[in-house]
Amino acid sequence: MQRKSFVKMLGLTSLALGLGNLYQLEKISTTFTQSPRMPVLFLGHGSPMNAIEENEFVVGFRNSAKRIPKPKAIICISAHWYTKGTKVTAMDMPKTIHDFGGFPQDLYNVVYPAKGSPSLAKETVQMLAPVMVEEDHNWGLDHGAWSVIKHLYPEADIPIIQLSIDYTKSPQYHFDLASRLTSLRDRGILIVGSGNIVHNLGLVDWPNMNKVDHGFDWAIEARAKINQWMLDGDFAPIVDYTKQGKAIQMAAPTPDHYLPLIYALGLKSDGDKLDLFNDKLLAGSLSMTSVLIS
Ligand code: ZN
Repeated sequence: MQRKSFVKMLGLTSLALGLGNLYQLEKISTTFTQSPRMPVLFLGHGSPMNAIEENEFVVGFRNSAKRIPKPKAIICISAHWYTKGTKVTAMDMPKTIHDFGGFPQDLYNVVYPAKGSPSLAKETVQMLAPVMVEEDHNWGLDHGAWSVIKHLYPEADIPIIQLSIDYTKSPQYHFDLASRLTSLRDRGILIVGSGNIVHNLGLVDWPNMNKVDHGFDWAIEARAKINQWMLDGDFAPIVDYTKQGKAIQMAAPTPDHYLPLIYALGLKSDGDKLDLFNDKLLAGSLSMTSVLIS
């Protein structure tokens, strides 16, 4: 039987048997072999300038990597790859994308030369079937990925792929989609969501844009509520965030920076711990709160 029809048959079988069985049946490749369960990260990336500045948040990113076994590869879900449909980067060498404007030349000079992983991209596509995931050869690494991952792995020696966020889908859909990648955690893959939980650029206190521990009342309230839900393992209100009142609506006026958190939480298993770090408000309307699930 040709591979194409074999995969197609598995796809149909998965609909009949349930998606969990698809992965049991498939055992796709041996590129990423079984290894101790990897943690999951959500990184509050903040300003692109964190890529080249030295500050407490950068120290937090660096320290988080010290708490994690060295991964074989990384899948990053970045706020800045927000697409119609789901895509996965599938090139050998993703380019560093400087997807911002008005910053110093030093930031545009940054190149993060991590390799891609076409084989992991293919596995991701197969694992998420029957959801159609397009293998992409045009994107690369956007600053949601490289500006933070460069602090975790400055040698750029870990292959990275990005999985885009389908903007047509609900938070619950993203939570469920993420959970279907859980078995990759047992094969040495680090999954990283990169966004910001409190992220209202329209209300940034620009004169105080670098002021740490500076949050408006609604930002303080939103951070406190979401942190408590996370620490309690009560993810339903976090997923259903649009119905949790004014403060949280103001914290996440658009879904793009919030949804990467949903991916990280969707990958948490029973028995995992959840720790917060870089848990500070900034510039009135932003938070840098980051999450380590291990
Ligand atoms: Zn961003």
